Amino acid sequence: MYPKLIIDLNKIKNNLNKITDMVKGSGCSIMIVTKGYSADLEIYKVLENSNIDYLADSRIQNLKKYQGSKKERVLLRLPMNSEVDEVVKHSEISLNSEIVTIRNLNEAAAKQNKKHKVLLMIDLGDLREGIFFKDEEEIYSTVEEILKLTNIELFGLGVNLTCYGAVIPKRDNLSVLVEIAEKIEKKYNIKLEMISGGNSSSIYLIGEKELPERINNLRIGEAFLLGGETAYGEMLEGFYDDAFTLEAEIIELKEKQSVPIGETGVDAFGNKPVYEDRGIIKRAIIAVGRQDVDSDNLHPIDSKIDILGASSDHLILDLTKSDKEYQVGSIVSFKVSYSSLLRASTSSYVEREYR
Ligand SMILES: *Cc1c(COP(=O)(O)O)cnc(C)c1O
Repeated sequence: MYPKLIIDLNKIKNNLNKITDMVKGSGCSIMIVTKGYSADLEIYKVLENSNIDYLADSRIQNLKKYQGSKKERVLLRLPMNSEVDEVVKHSEISLNSEIVTIRNLNEAAAKQNKKHKVLLMIDLGDLREGIFFKDEEEIYSTVEEILKLTNIELFGLGVNLTCYGAVIPKRDNLSVLVEIAEKIEKKYNIKLEMISGGNSSSIYLIGEKELPERINNLRIGEAFLLGGETAYGEMLEGFYDDAFTLEAEIIELKEKQSVPIGETGVDAFGNKPVYEDRGIIKRAIIAVGRQDVDSDNLHPIDSKIDILGASSDHLILDLTKSDKEYQVGSIVSFKVSYSSLLRASTSSYVEREYR
């Protein structure tokens, strides 16, 4: 059945070995982030047998699948108060910025007779999660209270960049995180085990030897999956960008004009599209849609194919320039960017095949 997400486990292994060598070679531990492909269990087997340090995901449901893992499990998204019991049960470490939630995690951990580790998030200006770096009062009061909680361990600090604000990690902003950590260590006479310096957008700093010394962890999803660093969008040498590909089947193939006929209003998603007049073209409809992929982040492997548009269940292609003989029933293959991988692995209509 199509559509199908093809997962090449050898290419995944290649990317995994390369990223692990790179990150660990820089003196950091590595968390592999598995949310981009809904924590697929075949890939989990590869990760479990590798020398990565942590398994990380934004959803507790995904971490639950890793029950019995030898790796420590890290919840990346700040916990909801309504899920603290599950968080303590299915992760050893979670990222946090709200003392209310940390108190609830403490209670849940006490009930389960566990100690739960907290990585306190500091916002260096990207404006997603974390206590704002200038708000020293909140940073200290939070740390002070965490240190009093019986079932929580302050494991360290973390920052997330290039997600909402698209702020690029640099030596200067990451140094602010290190400074905050060192002030905390001095003030409370403690040692913070982990200072986590970001995601796939921090990797380029390794090559430039610009990662501040005390940053000792990175959390990597996209670079491992798709082989690119995400600060400047460069491919990493020796990595594959096609460990995941998508295949879909042609259900209609006809010559039609390229501009709709009649007065046009808005499309199925409320947008007013603009149509380029390409004359009479060879149009194919394939059986995959916006529920399964992000049509703006899908790249035909036959580079002479253009994607014209998509609705929930249909993707429309222009095959006019292609040299291949496509027919109804032919399969078209695509490389996927992150948002398409995310949707394809979340959609229950997309099958998976391992190679
Ligand atoms: C998703 C996420 C990551 C991984 O980001 P990539 O760009 O895929 O490497 C790291 N940290 C947090 C907090 C995340 O939410």
